[in-house]
Amino acid sequence: MSETTEPGSYFVSNYPPFDRWGTEAVPAVRAAFEQPPGDVPLGLYLHIPFCRKRCKFCYFRVYTDKAASDVERYTQGLVREAGLAAASPAVRGRELKYVYFGGGTPSFLSVKQLERLVAGLHDSFGWDHAEEVTFECEPGTLSEPKVKALRELGMTRISLGVENFDDDILEANGRAHLSAEIMRAWGWIKAAGFPNTNIDLISGMVGETDESWDATVAKTLAMEPDSVTIYQMELPLNTTLVHDWKETGVPAPVADWPTKRGWVDRAFRRFEEAGYAVSSGYTLVRDPSRVSFRYRDMLWEGSDLIALGVASFGHLSGLHYQNEPHWDAYLDTVEGGRLPIARGMVPTPRERLIREMILQLKRGHLDVPRFRQKFGVDVLDAWKGTWADLAAEGSLGLEGGRVELTREGLLQVDRLLHRFFEPSPPQEQVAAS
Ligand code: SF4
Repeated sequence: MSETTEPGSYFVSNYPPFDRWGTEAVPAVRAAFEQPPGDVPLGLYLHIPFCRKRCKFCYFRVYTDKAASDVERYTQGLVREAGLAAASPAVRGRELKYVYFGGGTPSFLSVKQLERLVAGLHDSFGWDHAEEVTFECEPGTLSEPKVKALRELGMTRISLGVENFDDDILEANGRAHLSAEIMRAWGWIKAAGFPNTNIDLISGMVGETDESWDATVAKTLAMEPDSVTIYQMELPLNTTLVHDWKETGVPAPVADWPTKRGWVDRAFRRFEEAGYAVSSGYTLVRDPSRVSFRYRDMLWEGSDLIALGVASFGHLSGLHYQNEPHWDAYLDTVEGGRLPIARGMVPTPRERLIREMILQLKRGHLDVPRFRQKFGVDVLDAWKGTWADLAAEGSLGLEGGRVELTREGLLQVDRLLHRFFEPSPPQEQVAAS
């Protein structure tokens, strides 16, 4: 892999990769909804696809031009979809273990819209026993009453998309908020008493320097969040930065990978000095005995995840699926009383094992006996050569039958994971499976 930041995706969010997903798997996913579930926890993900402005590095399905009536129609669509999913044999009667409002910008919704949405969802899903209810926020969309309402509506984990504190950098990357809005929102969040507060940062945004990064880390530390999540800037193909690059021929001025890793490394060290513990290649936690990340952990260990919303990604009974990625198709399907599943993927048992193994490696270590128990496979033995190569390169240690990534390995875990990917089968085989 090139050390410069080239157009393309870096972050591994699932396996097998999305180019293996297709419409031919939709009947199998629909059939899974009609079958009794497996013995795994259940989570709910809601995609709220509205943003005030499109960030130049954004690759999600978001809308910046919807009227209040569109937002209303969409949230009612989510409620309708929740009812359809909850009534299916695979979901009926199950308790949610976690809920995640992601986006887009969930905090784009008004208090009234949020109250109606949550009340509608509760008609289908109760989450009184959920271990975590996460809500993503963009600082400039918050107000004191909205933050209080979020707490009253049952959100337990607030994740604030700060990304950087330098106003010039925020502007150069097309963010809708400025640093003053971050500080104002943080006061309200602290006062509302959420059990878990997270701040998201991105290392290597356009315009980042050593000084701006150190200042961002220092300001984040001073805010004392329960956890911090740091992503490394990447340039997926459908971003404004890559479109501009193609049009002008001028590369997006994003730092190279060693520089971005170095910035994350510096941040990790400073947070560790302040008492935080590293809990994955992206996350630091202030008090691991009190604060965990249930959405991440359960999803990476194979939980079911019901996806609600346009282009949303789900996982049920070992099968992957994605909802209709277009506004009209999504809403028309849901309003017509059908789950809006657009494509899917039926992984083989070995692919399920690889999925869990690579996702759990992002935590920096692997529970080898767990894989023996769950899949009947000794992963140390099955990928002996790969582990040995990674150890020889200094990316991991293998003492006492334990896989433990080194800091160097952890900081570039997403590119190491590709070593476990299997070659894609020929297309005719995919269609027949
Ligand atoms: S706030 Fe998030 S979802 Fe919205 S445009 Fe920016 S990166 Fe995309």
